[in-house]
Formats: sequence, C-alpha cells, structure tokens
Amino acid sequence: MSKILITGGTGLVGSSLEFDNCVKLSSKDCDLRDTQQTYKLFESLKPDKVIHCAAKVGGVLSNMAYKGDYYHDNIMINTNVLEASRRVGVKRVLSFLSTCVFPKDIDYPLTEDKMHDGAPHEAHYPYAYAKRMLDIQSRAYREQYGCDFISVIPVNLYGPNDNFNLENSHVAPALIRKCYEAKINNTPFVVWGTGKPYREFIYIKDIAKLTAWTLENYQDKGPLIFTSSIETSINELVEIIAKCFSFDGKIVFDKSMPDGQYRKPSSNKKLLSHIPDFEFTSLEDGIAETCEWFQKKYETVRK
Ligand code: NAP
Repeated sequence: MSKILITGGTGLVGSSLEFDNCVKLSSKDCDLRDTQQTYKLFESLKPDKVIHCAAKVGGVLSNMAYKGDYYHDNIMINTNVLEASRRVGVKRVLSFLSTCVFPKDIDYPLTEDKMHDGAPHEAHYPYAYAKRMLDIQSRAYREQYGCDFISVIPVNLYGPNDNFNLENSHVAPALIRKCYEAKINNTPFVVWGTGKPYREFIYIKDIAKLTAWTLENYQDKGPLIFTSSIETSINELVEIIAKCFSFDGKIVFDKSMPDGQYRKPSSNKKLLSHIPDFEFTSLEDGIAETCEWFQKKYETVRK
C-alpha cells in the first residue's frame, strides 16, 4: 500500500483528507521553510505520494501587511517540498494552488491555461507568484526528471477545522464567526464591504473526495480547477449564515472596507470532463454543517 505524506495536515484541507497509510505533518513536525529539516524528514519517511497543502495562508489584510513573509515562506515551503520529493523519488505530488494565482485582468471564466497570462492582483501578488511557481517547478521537473507532479486549484473553501481568526481568515469563516458572536452578544452583524461581489465556494468534504480521485486517477499533466462554477453573492452568503444561526438582529455593511474584485468566475469544464457525475454539496447544506460544528466547538476553534 502506498505511503502518503500530507503536508499541512493540521489545516482545513489536510485535516479533511483520510487515507489508510498516511502521515499528516504540522509545522511542529517540520518547518518546511527550512531546507535541511525538510530533506531530513523526507529521507526518513520516504513517502510514495505527497499531498502538499502546507502554506502560509491568509485574508486580504494579512496578505497586504506581510507581503515579504507571504512571498518568502511560501516560495521556501514549495521549493523545499518539491525538491525533497524529487530527491527521494516520490511517485506523485499533488500540490494545492489557489485562484489568487490568476491574472487580475483576464477574460472570464478562469480556465487552467490562463494562469500565467498577466500579473495577479496587487493585493496578494507575493502569495500568488509564490503559488504560480509550484506550477512552474512541477512542469520543469516533469520535463527534466520525468517527475509526476501535478497541482489543483480550489476556489474559496469552507468547512469544519477552518481558521476563524478575524485578521487572517477567509470570507466564509470570518462571516460565520461574526454572525455567531453578534447573536450571542446581541450586537449588529458587521459585514466588510457592500455585500455585492460574487464568489465561488466549495465545501471541504467535496475537496476531500476530489483530491482522493485526482491523486489516484488524474492522468493529465496540467493543473485542475476544483469548482462547481456556481457564483454566490456575499449578500446571499450572509443570509444563509444568518438563517443557520437564527440571527434576526441588525446586519450592517461596512462600506469603508474593500470589496475586492466584483466577480472571479471559474470554469469546471476540465474537471467535469474527468468526473462528469460529481455531485457538489449545496452551499446551504455545507454552511449549515459548518455552523453547527462551529457552535459546538466555539471555545476551541482556531481563532
Ligand atoms: P490552513 O488551514 O491555513 O493550514 C495551513 C497548514 O500549513 C497548517 O497545517 C500549517 O501547520 C501548515 N504550515 C504553515 N506554515 C508551515 C511551515 N512553515 N512548515 C510546515 N507547515 C506549515 O490552510 P488550508 O486552508 O488548509 O489551505 C491548504 C492549501 O489550500 C494551501 O496551499 C492554500 O493555499 C490552498 N487554498 C486554500 C483555500 C482556502 O479557502 N482556505 C483556497 C484555495 C486554496 P500548523 O497547523 O502547524 O501551523
């Protein structure tokens, strides 16, 4: 049976993945920014396959405040993990990218082949370029060494075990926490921005299924976008969350906060050409499960 190593095993994605013979790493097991530590760990574990989820991840404000750290930490982690994998002869590496990698000015919908067709958004360019290099390194290693290294690009993720820290979390977990705290404190539910932008969301349990399928079955070389291609406005997301917590207080849109891009639709044409019958969890069901989990675990969630 293949031994599977999951980097970022304590994160939202890593904690959702289950395989029979797998080792999940946290930053406490190995700081993947450190080249020698990383080589040593891969030498001792000698995995057959690697699912590379570890990254310095955060929301817009954190990306803007710590540009140097986002670039350095991610470029080091990615370079070390792919090179260590090559050195110990890992048969397949599946790396997680993000839709932030795509150019700011591009024709929509986003498709896998558009990744390098222009500069990414200035708000997160250090993170985006470091992530793009995963694709470049995977391609270069495939061409020079014959390494079977691939990458996947999920849209906005949400689900149990997410990061609910208000300064560096993503939109769905931030809104879940704000709504719950507004409910228990009897205060307004404050939403950043106008609520008008549209985003695509994917439930973490769907990511777990798609990752397992891709690791075993995907035979293409290029990246693969994970999305249902259903766009939801932040307004609609706010309403779904408010309903889950039975929140009937005041909802305030703080228009002094940035909205980001209005839409970033992405295509699932390639994904569905491989898995035509995949059934995505509806946003209503996924958010309901996440809110229930959050409420139960409120004292101990990452925040
Ligand atoms: P996450 O919950 O923030 O988890 C990050 C993981 O990376 C944690 O296990 C963390 O370990 C580990 N890590 C961070 N720095 C490390 C270091 N220096 N050395 C070793 N491990 C380190 O992230 P996620 O949401 O699961 O994201 C997983 C992947 O999906 C990332 O590559 C991300 O870019 C991508 N992605 C995420 C989203 C999203 O909406 N969340 C969307 C698109 C793509 P500790 O727990 O020990 O700190």
